[in-house]
Amino acid sequence: MSQKKAAQPKHIPVRMCIGCREALAKRAPAMSQKKAAQPKHIPVRMCIGCREALAKRALIRVVRGPDGVRIDPSGKASGRGAYIHNQRACWEKSLSGALAQALKSEISTGDRDALVSYMSRLDPGPQQKPDPATSAGGTA
Ligand SMILES: [Zn+2]
Repeated sequence: MSQKKAAQPKHIPVRMCIGCREALAKRAPAMSQKKAAQPKHIPVRMCIGCREALAKRALIRVVRGPDGVRIDPSGKASGRGAYIHNQRACWEKSLSGALAQALKSEISTGDRDALVSYMSRLDPGPQQKPDPATSAGGTA
C-alpha cells in the first residue's frame, strides 16, 4: 500500500496563439499587459489673458497661497489658482487686472515684481518683432 504521490508538474493553462499558432502559457509574462491606447482625458483650463481654453499642461498656473501670489510649477499647490499662457501678451493682460480678478485678490507689489520678472523671461510672442533695444520701460 504505497501511496506514491508523484510530484506532478503544476498545471499551467496553455493556449494557442492564433497568429503564430504557438502554444503558450495563458498568462504570458511578456508584453501582454499593454493596455489599449485609450484617448486620455486631458484637463482643459482657460487662459485668463486671452480666454482661450487649452490643455492644462500648456498653461502656467499662478496660485494665491498663504504666502501670496506666485507661480506654481507643480500645478498642485493649494489655493485659488489661475492659468496663463506662456506668452508675454497674456501675462501683460493678466497682470493689468485679469489675474487679480481671477484670484479675487490684490497682488502685492513684491508678488507682482516676481511675476513681472517671470514674464520677462517668456517668449515675447510672434506679434512683437524681436528688438532688444526696446528694453527701456515706457508703457503708457
Ligand atoms: Zn492666453
